[in-house]
Amino acid sequence: MRLAIAGGQPVRTKKFPAYRFIGDEEKQAVARVLDSGVLSRYLGCWHDDFYGGPEVQALERQWADYFGVKHAVAVNSCTSGIQCAVGAIGTEPGDEVVVSPYSMCISATAPLLYGAVPVFADIEDEYFCLDPDRVEAAITSRTRAIIAVDLFGQPYDVEAINAIAKRHGLYVIEDAAQAPGATYQGQHAGTLGDIGVFSLNYHKHIHCGEGGVVTTDSDELAEKVRLIRNHAEAVVQGKGHKDLTNMLGFNFRMTEIEAAIASCQLRKLNSLIERQRANCDYLANRLGEIPALTPQKTRPGAEHSYYVHAFKFDERVAGVPRDAFIDAVAAELPVTELREGEGVKICNGYVKPLYLLPLFQERIAIGSKGYPFTGPDHTSEVCYDRGICPVVERVESKELFGHELMRPPVTQEDMDDVANAFEKVWTLRDQL
Ligand SMILES: *Cc1c(COP(=O)(O)O)cnc(C)c1O
Repeated sequence: MRLAIAGGQPVRTKKFPAYRFIGDEEKQAVARVLDSGVLSRYLGCWHDDFYGGPEVQALERQWADYFGVKHAVAVNSCTSGIQCAVGAIGTEPGDEVVVSPYSMCISATAPLLYGAVPVFADIEDEYFCLDPDRVEAAITSRTRAIIAVDLFGQPYDVEAINAIAKRHGLYVIEDAAQAPGATYQGQHAGTLGDIGVFSLNYHKHIHCGEGGVVTTDSDELAEKVRLIRNHAEAVVQGKGHKDLTNMLGFNFRMTEIEAAIASCQLRKLNSLIERQRANCDYLANRLGEIPALTPQKTRPGAEHSYYVHAFKFDERVAGVPRDAFIDAVAAELPVTELREGEGVKICNGYVKPLYLLPLFQERIAIGSKGYPFTGPDHTSEVCYDRGICPVVERVESKELFGHELMRPPVTQEDMDDVANAFEKVWTLRDQL
């Protein structure tokens, strides 16, 4: 028998079914909004419509109920939601914010938008979220906050990181973009820090086009997020809002159509997560039999929501490098319907450590003169050299692989094909 990458027959050629999570409910909801004639109902001044239209407000109530949090504020992306959160906590030029190098870029770059500087702390070897010891070591007298990411759908180390934040008087912003439906000790991801942010973009568990939701139990933070979302600078006077810190507003408003879709999507989240967990558990059991592969563990007390199903690869055990092995597995499998040209949903690594982005290497963010990295507010330079976070560099370059093949309607039979592809490559790896 030969590996497909060496010209043999692949394990499977029938495409994997596409994750199609938009149904009749969403179509009816969109039609209802179109019939109303009101596609968005915000006004950027102090008026009844400052808080948005009926669909936006209904989604916010539904979201707050579902996640068990006092306030949910709908925005037009998680990116803008994180920006609102960083602004709402009163971030100042000269501040530092401790961030993870292993995430989507905005969870590291958002502080820059308010003149603060990100400081990277390394990740945990096992769970890939911020390592509390490294967070502690990164804290200085200038630190204002920690942005903790629930990477791949795994909650961050809530107890340790929240304790550090409390001890040093810092805010925790939780980037829960990848973790709707994950929990820690029964409490939802997105409500584990002072302020949480979700994403509703196409790649996430539930989606509405583009969208995000900010969650918090704090009345004050929620109101600041609502102001930043909708032209705060033009609203504060009419509203009688006294604290002008970061009350530069933007237009980060979600439309009525997106809110109506998101509401339908949220109702399906439980059943989606249940099916994903079953598929991931099943596959992890089978792949766990292969000596070089270790399925990602779930943190004690947590429930994972599987945005990505991650594994670690041990090249010393396998005798071949990760990339050669995973490329060979991918060659045994077909693409997914709708993903023509995008390849099989299995990846070597996730993202390059974020401090290696040109933005940090060149220290050019706002304007061309190095602000805010250098200048009057930042007297000591933060280091972004290769090597500052050795765990993430090793995990990304040699060890981690992940897949997104668990999304329904795939079944255990589809997972069997995936497992068979891994087993075939394992058995025949000397052909690589
Ligand atoms: C997707 C994602 C974001 C950004 O979400 P958008 O809604 O596209 O802005 C932020 N953080 C993480 C961890 C993400 O995965």
